[in-house]
Amino acid sequence: CGVLGIWGEAPLDAAGLLHLGLLALQHRGQEAAGIAVSDGKELLVEKDLGLVNQVFTEERLQRLRRLEARLGLAHARYSTTGSNLRFNAQPLTARTAHGVLAIVHNGNFTNAKPLRDRLLREGATFQSTTDTEVMLLLLARLGHLPLPQAAAEAMRVLEGGYSILLMDRQRLVALRDPHGVRPLAIGRLPQGYAFASEPPALALMGAEYLRDVRPGEVVWVEGDRLESAQVLPPSPTPCAFEWIYFARPDSLLDGVEAYEARVRMGMELFREAPAAADIVVPVPDSGMGAAVGYARSSGLPLEYGLYKNPYAGRTFIQPTQELRDLKTRLKLAPTSAVRGKRVVLIDDSIVRGTTSRRIVGMLREAGAREVHFRVSSPPIRFPCYYGIDTAARKELIAAEKSVEEIRAYIGADTLAFLSEEGVRRAIGGPVCLACFNGRYPAGVPGDREGEKLA
Ligand code: 5GP
Ligand code: SF4
Ligand code: MG
Repeated sequence: CGVLGIWGEAPLDAAGLLHLGLLALQHRGQEAAGIAVSDGKELLVEKDLGLVNQVFTEERLQRLRRLEARLGLAHARYSTTGSNLRFNAQPLTARTAHGVLAIVHNGNFTNAKPLRDRLLREGATFQSTTDTEVMLLLLARLGHLPLPQAAAEAMRVLEGGYSILLMDRQRLVALRDPHGVRPLAIGRLPQGYAFASEPPALALMGAEYLRDVRPGEVVWVEGDRLESAQVLPPSPTPCAFEWIYFARPDSLLDGVEAYEARVRMGMELFREAPAAADIVVPVPDSGMGAAVGYARSSGLPLEYGLYKNPYAGRTFIQPTQELRDLKTRLKLAPTSAVRGKRVVLIDDSIVRGTTSRRIVGMLREAGAREVHFRVSSPPIRFPCYYGIDTAARKELIAAEKSVEEIRAYIGADTLAFLSEEGVRRAIGGPVCLACFNGRYPAGVPGDREGEKLA
């Protein structure tokens, strides 16, 4: 998911700025979008299922602009827990004894279920099926405390990977789990502050990137100052998949640029798995950065061998195998660059293997002589419990199959994946690699303990 927040000393067009910021974070979630704004007295929310521009019609934005807002939150949803239902769209709000609260959340609480069960036993009622609402209800019970302190108390109870923004009618609070699994950046506005999952969204809101929220830190705006408390000792293991695939290539995450990290992954990949080939072809767009690095290190020409149709959008046809094949053809098509060539095909990851198989098939039909598949991440063998929906374990091709079996399935001449060490070197610090190695730095849900070792 993508999260955003904005706070101004004077009224500002919070709805308009958050809408722009959301467009910059659309890649982080396409299922639902929402914005909450407040003028210090009222708090308004507009949210629905759909892409940002489908949800935020001129009419909806006008409804939010009715307030001379000074602060607000926004969310682009990608469902990990709780299904894709309208009442799960965020911001979630609660009317508490101490006023109204709104929350947006990127990540997952691994202990949401026991906390939810406890709250239910104590008489609480839930309006959504998301883990986010658990925190909202915890906060409602801590309403006697100022919001930043209530957030700190809740952090001591919650487990997992999370980046969160909270607001009441006056205040904006940001927090990040002690492992810093999900990103969260702070920006300065001429007269205020902004927060966003990724810095490119800050730029669109007119904010200058300041720094990231630190793992285990709570940050809030007080008067016109940024206040901070290190609530839990930091133990950083940010998600490697943000650099591999999820984040925008123009993002800076915990001081490491996504594009540069991807190029280095491609360079490491060549070092580990060179291929006798004529050209390097990226699978657009996710394989671009690594292909640049692979080409740079190998000296092979980088060719525009696959065209991605920018108008294909999201297609919902998939009832039969034939139609699913057509869907890939609608999105991607080989160019004449591959004809008669030995191709090194570069992508960032293989999840189910179905798309990769179709792409290899298309390249062969277009006359590629050999296809050497190189993947700039290790095989994904385990589920993510921290907010990335890499599919259920049984759907992950690498959960059951060896590299050689995957190669045979996708029909490549050779196949190689980047090692964990290669990913670590490319990013340059400790990272979570749990979906590759099953070692979960921020714990696993209690009821799935067994899966961790499976
Ligand atoms: P596969 O061959 O596993 O069917 O597809 C691999 C492609 O899926 C890669 O290009 C990779 O970028 C993409 N991919 C990896 N994770 C995700 C994800 O969470 N969502 C989407 N839409 N694509 C993903
Ligand atoms: Fe990222 Fe994988 Fe860790 Fe999930 S399990 S946080 S996707 S590295
Ligand atoms: Mg891709």
